Order: sequence, then structure tokens, then C-alpha cells
Amino acid sequence: MAEIPAQARAVVIGGGIIGCSTAYHLARLGWTDTLLVERHKLTSGSTHHAAGLVGQLRTSANITQLLGRSVALYQALEAETGLASGWKMNGGLRLACSAARWTELRRQATSAHSFGLEMHLLTPEEARKLWPLMDTGDLVGAAFLPTDGQVNPSDITQSLARGARQRGVRIFEDTAVTGFECERGRIRAVHTTRGRIACEVVVNCAGQWARQIGQLAGVNVPLVSVQHQYVMTDVVPGVVPGLPTLRDPDRLTYFKEDVGGLVMGGYEPNPRPWALDGVPDNFNFQLLQPDWDHFQPLLEQALARVPALAHAGIKALINGPESFTPDGNFILGAAPERGGFYVGAGFNAFGIASGGGAGEVLAQWIVGGEAPCDLWPVDIRRFGPPHGDIGWVRARTLELYGKHYSIAWPGEEHESARPLRRSPLYQRLRAAGAVFGEKLGWERPNWFACAGEEARDRYSFGRPHGVDAVAREHQAARERVAVFDQTSFAKFELRGRDAERALNWICANDVARPVGTLVYTQLLNRAGGIECDLTVGRLAADHYYLVTGTGFATHDFDWISRHIPAGLDAHLSEVTSQYAVLALMGPAARQVLSRLTQDDVSNAAFPFGRIRPLYVAGAPLRALRVTYVGELGWELHLPVEYAATVYDALMNAGAEFGIANAGYRAIESLRLEKGYRAWGADIGPDHTPLEAGLAWAVKLQTAVPFLGREALEAQLAAPLRKCLCTFSVADPEVMLFGRETLYRNGARAGWLSSGGYGHTVRHGIGLGYVRDAAGLTRDALLAGDYELEVAARRVACRIHLAPLYNPGSDRVRS
Ligand SMILES: Cc1cc2nc3c(=O)[nH]c(=O)nc-3n(C[C@H](O)[C@H](O)[C@H](O)COP(=O)(O)OP(=O)(O)OC[C@H]3O[C@@H](n4cnc5c(N)ncnc54)[C@H](O)[C@@H]3O)c2cc1C
Repeated sequence: MAEIPAQARAVVIGGGIIGCSTAYHLARLGWTDTLLVERHKLTSGSTHHAAGLVGQLRTSANITQLLGRSVALYQALEAETGLASGWKMNGGLRLACSAARWTELRRQATSAHSFGLEMHLLTPEEARKLWPLMDTGDLVGAAFLPTDGQVNPSDITQSLARGARQRGVRIFEDTAVTGFECERGRIRAVHTTRGRIACEVVVNCAGQWARQIGQLAGVNVPLVSVQHQYVMTDVVPGVVPGLPTLRDPDRLTYFKEDVGGLVMGGYEPNPRPWALDGVPDNFNFQLLQPDWDHFQPLLEQALARVPALAHAGIKALINGPESFTPDGNFILGAAPERGGFYVGAGFNAFGIASGGGAGEVLAQWIVGGEAPCDLWPVDIRRFGPPHGDIGWVRARTLELYGKHYSIAWPGEEHESARPLRRSPLYQRLRAAGAVFGEKLGWERPNWFACAGEEARDRYSFGRPHGVDAVAREHQAARERVAVFDQTSFAKFELRGRDAERALNWICANDVARPVGTLVYTQLLNRAGGIECDLTVGRLAADHYYLVTGTGFATHDFDWISRHIPAGLDAHLSEVTSQYAVLALMGPAARQVLSRLTQDDVSNAAFPFGRIRPLYVAGAPLRALRVTYVGELGWELHLPVEYAATVYDALMNAGAEFGIANAGYRAIESLRLEKGYRAWGADIGPDHTPLEAGLAWAVKLQTAVPFLGREALEAQLAAPLRKCLCTFSVADPEVMLFGRETLYRNGARAGWLSSGGYGHTVRHGIGLGYVRDAAGLTRDALLAGDYELEVAARRVACRIHLAPLYNPGSDRVRS
């Protein structure tokens, strides 16, 4: 057995498809001093028992494109390595058996068109021609993705491993990682059963074991093992080699042709977890006991769809455990807890489909030091405190597994593992009719039911349940005054002699302002892409307060702390749990506030864009004159123990002004009317402030250097190739949820990053980037004819380059 090297630039842990693909791509990018260690043999984990379906469509454009990169690689790999992958592009068929499912399928087809993926809607008869063995009696319609396909999971993995070896990667089987050595927060070496390997970078691709491996380095990888079963049949007459893969979500099942027979698996609504006490170390090339009782309901559904199965012999029922995550997406990227530690794990039974693309972007991330594109849906930094608890992770993961094939309703909330994080006002808001949603474990009021209204969500693709309540809350904020409990906001403090210098390097806007100034800013990457979008308040010469979205706590903290220049005296801490936040918004906000404070809150004394200490109803707090709804208002950030007192005082003082509780659904409608951007939807790493219409928030007019400045300056030299614009749709029957395809002068030009309804302007609103490789000017944008594809139907829309509501923002500054 060869000696294990004492040193390597990168050590990849795990010889499944993800580890092999990552090692292959690292070598392609020039990191040939890469070593892959596999505890047993290549493919001995989940990879060897995968069914091998390769579908591509996801709800995010970049993740769909990542899956497309897998397909491109699987097509080309055999020519490069000489090892067949079993890739067959026989297409993928999806069925719809109800009106709602058909709407979902049509919306999915529209998303596919937005993302440049071919997807055709079919009649039941057309679908039957593609899959003659199926009974189509209950079909409403179907969709066909011609570039989907199937692959042999072990073969493709071996082919990737050979490609990696050919480029210099050394692969060591029968070598288990047992621990890590760290120095000043960074990985320094990996310990294995065959010795120590000093390295710059470790990549944890250990599948179901990735959580345990992460723990050895103090890194949280929130995944659990769940049993997943499929049956393999003998030859079924009529099954031909080119048969498309078939997904039948209403019957919870999928099918794949396999040497003249069928592979049929599915997602039970009552999944069975595995390895509650940790995944055994010696689980190599093994399967779990087939559980026929559990599989029986799926088998019955499959028989109803494919009656010929009744006469087919069963070769085996495969029960393989696989790692699943609490939001159904995989986990990629640089771990925030440990420098030099990367993760590619938690593939939720689509690791074979993802392997090629996920390995590629992970390698690019490692080599480039930044994610190569917006990978937020799979970024390890989307997790936070709740995801450290395995009980919480398992409960939510099992819910998601059980919903794998259920309809993904717009605005749907999950039910398990709740409530966890509660604002001090939770009970009060609940008593006031709050219907809560959940983000990063926080319970947040989405909307408030009135007496006589049912205080729960009912989902549909039509006019949302609760929309009347949202309209009332929206109106209260526009015409009177409303209180929003936004306690879940993530909050940080940066302190130190060099806090200003550090922050002015990280922020695109100028934060070297007088004490008491509040600045809205983006934080950019080297390419000028927007990594964070937040508000910075200066509390003292050496003390800043930063406020960002609930879900971005881990991500933004990580980004800021990584980019504080070395040697500066600037210390970041998270203070989220110390402060409750009440946003008092609306034209009567000043009148309400002035009844509860001795301080002068007139416009002259407390103008927009300021942060000041105030006493309100006896509570010492930070008041921020800022808004995300487009009205006069303050965010009151107060120590949590005062929250109930201040809330009660606001409601009492506001009674004569018609004060109302309002929730996050109203915020969405209010912010869309004002064209305020949401990070993760309208803005993110793929878009610069210039493209997003946020040039006004960038200090390019100064000479101050900042991260991303060069990229923006270069971008200024040529016309922009994409611009974020607002679109309105007059037809009240058209519901916009985001991802609708945008057409300009008849040609596909982008898609909606956000969609919703404006209750003041009384029409549908979408935000989306118009793309044109030839460059765009204001006149060219306005001269275009625009349409949206909504659920596979074209509808007329209008473009707007200014906010639909109060474009001059005098209400905000009043
Ligand atoms: C029944 C079933 C059907 C599936 N069908 C499909 C499908 O049709 N399409 C699809 O896309 N996906 C499918 N999947 C999912 C797919 O199999 C996985 O997502 C994929 O194989 C995950 O690959 P991986 O490399 O992350 O993990 P693994 O293949 O599990 O690889 C992890 C490796 O890490 C090694 N390791 C663990 N600990 C250590 C250590 N301490 N030191 C060194 N090495 C270590 C393990 O031995 C293992 O080989 C299916 C899964 C199951 C269970």
C-alpha cells in the first residue's frame, strides 16, 4: 500500500460522487496537489445504491443551471476518461392528476423557460405516446424535459475518479479521517488512520457521515439519514431502452428503465429516519433490510399507474439510507466556523443529478476564494442556531422528505419543530390573531386575522387566503399607522478604534459619517456582486450598529468578519437576541411616538436616516428613522425586557389614530410598491448595485477604496447588460409569485425575481432584470414591449423605472 503523503494542498474526504467530482474539478482548475481519502472503497456510501435519475429543474435559476452542468459533463466524460458513465439523455416526464398540480406544472414550465431549460407541456395522450405502459385515465396533463436523463451512479463516479487521477489527484482508499488540527481558527492538518496530512484546505464530502466529520472540526453540517426505497423488476414487456424517466408526484412515485425492467421508487409521507445515534463507521456497500410494509402503499400507487408491473418479477427491494437536510437542498461552501474547511454534502436523493455541477462550483469556490455565482439556496451559511440541534434538524427534515412530492404552494410554511424562537410579544400577537411564519427558527407574524376570520393559512395558486387581512394591514400603514414586530432582524455591533476604516472598506456606501447617521449599504464581492444588503448606524466614533434580514444572520456575520482587513482594531459581535424590534410605520407614526417620549421627534430634530437613543414609554432604546414600507416611521430597537411595555404603550397611544398590527405579508406588498429590493431575490452576488438601480447608495463619487470598487468602475465604462425594473400587470386574475418569464419585444429577456400584489396601486407587481447582451439604456428599456409568461400563458405588462408608489419619497422624509 502506498505511503500517504505528509502534505497536500487540498484533502477531499469521501469517495462518493461528490468527493470524486470535487477532486476532478479541483485538478481541472490547476489544484493537482489534491488528495482524496475514502474510508472504504470509492462509491461504497450512498452512491452505489442510487437509482440514477437525473432531473434538472429546481426553483432557483443557478441551481437548475448547476444541474445542467452535470448533464453537460456526463455527456462528455467518457470521451475524456475512457470510462463509460451510463449517461442516457432519454428525457424526463412529469405527470399532473389534479387542477392544482397542473397549475404547478405549468408554473414549473414557465420557470424552466425563464432559466433556459426546455420543458414542454403535453396532453395525456401525448404523454402516453412517450410512455405507452402507463394508464392515463386520471391525467390532467404532463410535461416533458427532453434533456433530463439517467446515469449509472457507480460508473460515473469511477469515471470522475479516473479523470481526477489523470490530472494528478492521488486517491487513497481504506483511509479514514479521524480528526483535524487547527491553528488560529484555520485547518492545518487532517489526521487519518494512515497518518497526518498537512493541508491548506479540507473538503468534507462524506455524505451521511458529513455531520460527524464536521463535528470533529467544530463545524455544523445539519443533515440526518433517512431510509429511501426503490424496487427493481425483471424485464417488463414494453419497456424499451429509450424510455424517459417518469415522475408521478400525485402518486408519490418515480420510474426509470433498467435493462428492460423498471426501477420504481418514491417518497412516503411518513418517512423512516435511520442511524439516530450516528451513522456506523463500517456501513460500506451495505443496504438496510427491505421494508415491504412501508413500501406497499407506493407499490399500489405504481401498479395503478403501470398495470404491467403486476406481472413483473421483483429482483430486489433496495433500502438505502441517504442524507437529507431541513430545507431539501444540499449544503455547499466554506464553513463559517473554520477557515479552510469546505462542505459538499446533504444531497437529498439528488446527489447523482447534482454531482457534476456541485463539484464544479465547489472547486471554483475553493480555488477562487468566493462562490463563483449566487449559490444562496445551497450555501452552508443559510443555517443558524436551530440547525445545531439534531432533534430540530431531524423533525424538519422528515417533514420536508414527506412533502417531497406534495405541491409546493406559494408562501407555504413548514409545521414541524415550531415554535422555537419567539419574540417577547409572541403571546400578545397570537391573541391579536397573528398567523405566524417561520424563518431561521423565529416565529414571525405573517398576517392578523380579525374576529370571525380563520387564523390559519390555506394555500392555493389563486387569490391567497388572508389577502383581505393583508390589504387591511397595508392600508393601515399607508393611511394611519401600523406596528410590525421585526424582532427577528439579525443585529451586529462593530467596535474598535478602526471600526470606521474596516467598515468603509467592506461597505459600498460611505459610512464615515457623523455619529447618529444611518446608512443603507450593500457589501460587495470582488466582482461587484451584492453579498449583503444592510443598514449601518453610527453610535459612536468607534461603535457601529448593523441590522440585516432574519435569514442572513450567519451569512452576513461571516462575510463581514472575513473581510475586516488584517491588523485593524475592529471587533464584530452578534446582538440579535438582545434587542426586540418594533417598527412603527405610517403617516401618524410621529403623533403616536411623541405621546410616549419627552424627546423631540420632529422632522427637524430627528430627520430620516438618523439613529438616536430615545426613551419611549420609559424604555431606553435605539430609534432608527428608516423604512422598508415607504412611509414615515421609526424602527425601535429595545432591550427585550421592555418589549411588552413599549408594545402596549404604542397600541394604547395609537388607538385614537387607528393603529393596527401588521405582518410580513403586508411588508411584502408595501415594499414592492416602493420598489425596495430584497436580498436573495432581487439582489445578490450575481448583481451589482449599478444593475440593481442602487448606484445612489455607492460611494463612487469619493476616492475612498472599497471592496468591489474596481469592478463597478469597469462596469461604468460600457452600457449595462441587465437592469432591475418594475413591472405591473393590470389583469386581477393574474397572480405573480416570482420566476415568471419576461419577454421584451417578443424575445425572452429575463424573469421576475419577486412578484406580488400592491394593495394601494391595486395591481400585480413584479421586479425583474431585463437582459440584453447588446447593452441597455433608459430609452431602450422604456421603448420595449413587454409581456410576462405566467403559468405558461402570455400576459401583457408595463415597465416602470421609478417606484409605483410615492416615487419622490416625500412621505418617507416628511
Ligand atoms: C435508494 C436511493 C436512491 C437514490 N436515487 C437517486 C437518483 O435517482 N438520482 C440522484 O441524483 N440521486 C439519488 N440518490 C442520492 C444519491 O445516492 C446521493 O445523493 C449521492 O450518492 C451522495 O453522494 P455523496 O458523495 O455525497 O455521498 P456518499 O456516496 O455516501 O459518499 C460519502 C463517502 O464518504 C466516505 N466517508 C465517510 N466517513 C469517512 C471518513 N471518516 N473518512 C474518509 N471517508 C469517509 C464514505 O465511505 C462514503 O464513501 C439516491 C439515494 C438512495 C439512498
